[in-house]
Amino acid sequence: MSPDPSPSLGPGGLLTCEVLVVGAGPAGGDLAAQLARAGIDVCLVDQLQDLTKSAFSSAGMPLAAMPRYGLPAELVGARWDSWRLIGPGDQWRDWRATEPLGVVLQFGALRRWLADQCQSWGGTVRLGRRAVAISHEDEVLITRLRGRDGQIESVRSAWVVDATGHSRSLIGDPEPVPGPRGRDRNLISAVGVEWLMQVPEATWEHWRGKLSFCLGSDWVPQGYGWVFPMQRGQIKLGVCRLENPGQVASPLAPLMQSLQHRLLDPQSRGSLQVLDRHGGRVRSSIRRQEPHRRGRLIALGDAVSTANLLGGEGIRHALESSRVLAPLLSEAVRIDRAGLGKAGAMKALDRYPRRLHRALGWRWSLSGRIARRTWSSLTGTRGDERLSRVLKGLEQQRAEDLSALLFDYRFERYGARMLPYLLGWR
Ligand SMILES: Cc1cc2nc3c(=O)[nH]c(=O)nc-3n(C[C@H](O)[C@H](O)[C@H](O)COP(=O)(O)OP(=O)(O)OC[C@H]3O[C@@H](n4cnc5c(N)ncnc54)[C@H](O)[C@@H]3O)c2cc1C
Repeated sequence: MSPDPSPSLGPGGLLTCEVLVVGAGPAGGDLAAQLARAGIDVCLVDQLQDLTKSAFSSAGMPLAAMPRYGLPAELVGARWDSWRLIGPGDQWRDWRATEPLGVVLQFGALRRWLADQCQSWGGTVRLGRRAVAISHEDEVLITRLRGRDGQIESVRSAWVVDATGHSRSLIGDPEPVPGPRGRDRNLISAVGVEWLMQVPEATWEHWRGKLSFCLGSDWVPQGYGWVFPMQRGQIKLGVCRLENPGQVASPLAPLMQSLQHRLLDPQSRGSLQVLDRHGGRVRSSIRRQEPHRRGRLIALGDAVSTANLLGGEGIRHALESSRVLAPLLSEAVRIDRAGLGKAGAMKALDRYPRRLHRALGWRWSLSGRIARRTWSSLTGTRGDERLSRVLKGLEQQRAEDLSALLFDYRFERYGARMLPYLLGWR
């Protein structure tokens, strides 16, 4: 990517564009590329100076997402055709398909590729700038960006998109709803860390081609651990757990150490090299009823809770939110250009929450509810026993069925017998 192409400067030296997208993650990067391709004057900004760095996401995805979102093979770190579920305790279960089921992307490369797409279609990309404030001037938004040197620059745009992920830097967190009504409306937060490691060939072979998860309270209380394969000789090892509101979270480092100790043989532990340590949060509500827009400020991706809590999986959903918003926002920009009045543009955007809800589907919320129940109950024997029953029930299934369960949230395929366990009614 070439450094900052010359932006269009409006009166008073302000950077001007029709749409400012803040956050060059999968959601913002894809939206900026879609809008630029539609001929809209778009500017994409991110606080990161280098989008290939701080690649916090494990980036596991089903294979079908690659053609669906037009992602090229060069972004793939590894392919996988098997599931491995370890735990509770020392139980290991493997399922293998005959065809590849999914990929593990190079998350940093994905972000950079999307920003390159935006730029290739004529959009502007400005990196190393953090959005710190936003204000209205009639029908125009002024967004202040702070550069690494502390300099403030302003962007004047008709629309601003908050694609800043779980931090929701511009749209803000939804107001907490007290009592039981808040259960499905308030944000649920999980925090994860991951190490990218160089490992001996034999160790890599052992984890190659599989998405492996460690489940049960003795592995990660109220969460899970994972091993994902990457390119030859590399694996990603991580842990993620729920954060209990009002409690100080216990550190994840001891859980990472225990995972290494239990999963990697002593010989390989001596020769492995940690190439990168990263982490982050997933914060989603189950009902996704938070505001998706405040006037001309619109939010997408994790900023409107598209990440699913079951596997902390959000890349596909972030991309989907962009594909839902792009045509609606393009329509609104065209209405603005034609001077057809504010009401028409706002009406186009009013369709966004419902369309996104429909695109994610009812199973998305069911999955979030099952995830909350599953992870929060993994504190001891009772939760572990319930999980063991569920996993036993999966033994007869094929690897493809597990993918349908964990990526398409097709819980009903396991029949009325299993849903009550999953939902915690038994
Ligand atoms: C440890 C971990 C593992 C994960 N593993 C997977 C996985 O295997 N598969 C999967 O599908 N999902 C996974 N996810 C979730 C997935 O990464 C997210 O759901 C997805 O990245 C959301 O995309 P987004 O574009 O909405 O937000 P993000 O990817 O969070 O992008 C937001 C961007 O906004 C920028 N930003 C933030 N604030 C500002 C600001 N004020 N000004 C300028 N820029 C700003 C950030 O630098 C960032 O680049 C994981 C998440 C974590 C934390």
